[in-house]
Amino acid sequence: MEVVGRRFAVLGLARSGIACARLLLARGAAVTVLDVKPREALPPGVAELERAGARVVLGPHPVAELAAAEFLVISPGIPDLPQVAAAEAAGVRVLAEIEVALWWLRAPIVAVTGTNGKSTVTSLLGEMGRRAGRPTFAGANLGTPLSDAVDSPANAPDGLVVAELSSFQFERTASLRPRVAVLLNVTDDHLDRHGTFEAYAELKGRVFDGQTAGDFAIVPAGDAVCEGLAHRRKGRVLRFGPGGDAFLDGSDLVARGPDGEKVRVPRSLLRLRGGHNEDNALAAMLAARCVGLPAAAIREALAAFAGLPHRMQLVAEVGGVAFYDDSKATNVGAALRAIEGLDRRGVLVAGGREKGGSYAPLRDAIRAHIKRIVLIGEARANMKAQLGDLVPCDEAETLEDAVRLAARAAEPGEAVLLAPACSSWDMFRDYGERGDRFAAAAKAAGRACEGEGEVRAKDAKGGSDAKTAKGAGKSAQGPAGGRDGR
Ligand code: ADP
Repeated sequence: MEVVGRRFAVLGLARSGIACARLLLARGAAVTVLDVKPREALPPGVAELERAGARVVLGPHPVAELAAAEFLVISPGIPDLPQVAAAEAAGVRVLAEIEVALWWLRAPIVAVTGTNGKSTVTSLLGEMGRRAGRPTFAGANLGTPLSDAVDSPANAPDGLVVAELSSFQFERTASLRPRVAVLLNVTDDHLDRHGTFEAYAELKGRVFDGQTAGDFAIVPAGDAVCEGLAHRRKGRVLRFGPGGDAFLDGSDLVARGPDGEKVRVPRSLLRLRGGHNEDNALAAMLAARCVGLPAAAIREALAAFAGLPHRMQLVAEVGGVAFYDDSKATNVGAALRAIEGLDRRGVLVAGGREKGGSYAPLRDAIRAHIKRIVLIGEARANMKAQLGDLVPCDEAETLEDAVRLAARAAEPGEAVLLAPACSSWDMFRDYGERGDRFAAAAKAAGRACEGEGEVRAKDAKGGSDAKTAKGAGKSAQGPAGGRDGR
C-alpha cells in the first residue's frame, strides 16, 4: 500500500492510535491525530508524533476535520460517533488500526479470536514461537498494538506474528488473511454493542475471511456455530477437543498436525489450571504445528507458562481458604468455566455492569460448586433474581465488603472465587483494578481470619461456640481492605 502524501486522520490516541500514527508517518503519510482529551491526559507518545510531523487536534472532533481526510483510523474503543458517520457519508474510508498494520505484514499470521481464552492462547503461541527461535510478535488486542509488529524482526517470511483479535477489531478490517485462524469459542458477550448473538458470532467468523486453500481454520470439535463459520472459507478445518485433531488421550494432550505428525505433552506438565485451559493448550498446540513449530518448543512453552494475571490466579491462601482472582471473567461463558474449574466448594463473588445476556447458563455449575454468592455492582438485583433460588445471595456495596462477607462464609478447605460474569466499568477503571482490589481485600480478610483464629482458640478453651466466636472475631477486627472510594 502506497501512502506517501495521502491524508489520514487517526481518531483516539491510546496505544493503538499512537502506534498506527507512528507507522503511517514513517511510511510518508500526512497524518492528523485527534482526541477529545486535553494534552495533559494523553500519553507522552503524542509529543513524539508531533515531532515526526503529525498535526494534533484536541477537544471535540470537528466534522470538517474528519471529512477532510481520505482515510480515518478509529480506535476499537470508540463508540459509533455521528462525526464518523458524517465523514463516511462524505466518502472518507474508515479503517481499524489492524487494517493499516495488515497492509505491511509479510510474516505468517496466526489470528486468535473467540469470546474467551484469546490472551491465554496468544501468549502460549508467542512463548512457543520464541522457544523455537523464530522472531515472534505476540500482541494486537493484547499488549502491543499490531502496528508495532510491522517494523519488528518478526515481520519476515521466517518470522511469526500472533495476533489476538477482538470482535471490535473486525468491524473495519478487509485485509486479514491469516495462515492460521483460531476461533476458540463463541458465547454471549458484548450483546450491548452487537445486538444479537448471531451478529456477534458473524463478526467473530470474519477471522476466516480471506483464507484460501493452504491456510488453516482451527475450531472446537463439535461446535456447530464455529464449524459453520470456518466452512464459509477455503482454509483446511482442524478441530481441538474430543474426536478432533488435538485431544486428551488419557493423561496426555495430543495434537496431530496437518503433516500427520503427533505432538504429545503430559497433562501434568501444564502449569495452567482448569479444563478450559486444557482446551486452550490443545488449540495452541494445533496452531503451532500448522506454522511448523517443533514439538520441543511446544512442550517447553506449555511447561513454562504460568498464566496471565486475573485469570484463575491464586492470590491468597489463608486459614485453609483459597482466594482465586478471575476478574477477567467479564462474561457468563468465562465465569462458567471458572466455577466449573474449582477443585473445591466455594463462595462466588460476582456482579458489575451487565452485558445484556442471561445468567441461566451458570445455574448447574453454581448448584455443583457454590454454596453462597456475594453480589456487587449494577447487576446485583438481576443476578439475585436469576440465581437467588439456588443458594443464599448477599449484596454488598463495595468489593471489600463482598470479600469480607465471602471470607466469613468460607470454611477451611473451601474457596472464594471472584468471577464477576460482568464488566468492571460501573465500579472500577478496568478488570485489572478490580482484580488488584480483590487480592488486597483477600489478604486483609485473611489477616482478619487469623485474628479470629486466636479468638476461636481462646473461646475453645473457655468452652464457647466457635460460630459465635467467628462473628465476634470478624466484627472486632473492623472493616478489612480499607475504604472504597467509589
Ligand atoms: P480473552 O483474551 O479472550 O478475554 P483470556 O485468556 O484473557 O481471554 O481469559 C478471559 C477469561 O476467560 C478468564 O476469566 C479465563 O479464566 C476464561 N477463559 C480462558 N480460556 C477460556 C476458554 N477456553 N473458555 C472459557 N473461558 C476461558
